[in-house]
Amino acid sequence: MGRQPSQLGSLDQLDREVPPEPATQESGQSGQSGQSGLPGGLTGAAIKPRLRGWLHAGMFPAALVSGVLLTALAGTLASRLACAVYTLSACLLFGISALYHRGDWSPPVRAILRRLDHANIFLIIAGTYTPLTILLLPDGSRELLLWGIWLAALVGIAFRTLWVGAPRWLYTPCYVGMGWAAVFYLPEFLHAGGVAVLVCVIVGGLLYSLGGLVYGIKRPNPSPRWFGFHEVFHSLTLAGFVAHYVGIALVVSQHT
Ligand SMILES: [Zn+2]
Repeated sequence: MGRQPSQLGSLDQLDREVPPEPATQESGQSGQSGQSGLPGGLTGAAIKPRLRGWLHAGMFPAALVSGVLLTALAGTLASRLACAVYTLSACLLFGISALYHRGDWSPPVRAILRRLDHANIFLIIAGTYTPLTILLLPDGSRELLLWGIWLAALVGIAFRTLWVGAPRWLYTPCYVGMGWAAVFYLPEFLHAGGVAVLVCVIVGGLLYSLGGLVYGIKRPNPSPRWFGFHEVFHSLTLAGFVAHYVGIALVVSQHT
């Protein structure tokens, strides 16, 4: 983790799926996006598992359709807007992630998509908070959390965009911390939304956090060729999203 000073190659290195090899000059002249041109075959090369990106590619249309449905069913203007923000953040997350992970991009495009992919994590966190906050929290807490979480998201996006080679141990806890801020609001979520909503919020949060942990420690890594730790991480984000979606749908149904 965070083994190298940031240089050009660090754009890619954080997503390397192969367990850290003695780093020769792996930071590899981002000349080849295929990353296998270095002497010694595997040394420092990134193997992109075959299933990389497919989960999010499949999730994109599902998130789009279910999000539009949710937005259409929302009863008030405020909840409709909140659901639209949530849907947009989900579509950006899964859509850009699918593009970034599936495509074989040139290094500059790859670098841009990577920044967007990471920035979108802040957006989905704030986007998920938005309907829950607007629909469940009383005046006062609502504004506080909404402003706080969007401000944190903007700061996070600036941080990830300006320092793209930041070590994983530094930025992964930022995501997790933003998500865990919800802990302070759980009693209010329970009070206004009920047990089922609370369970969905907690289960979703735990799944995302587990995903963050897998991403942070790069384990388990079941099959580096087909389904590596990054795919485990994607699966957990997907499961976390579904849990939160169900919770938000329940809340929306309570307010129609
Ligand atoms: Zn990813």
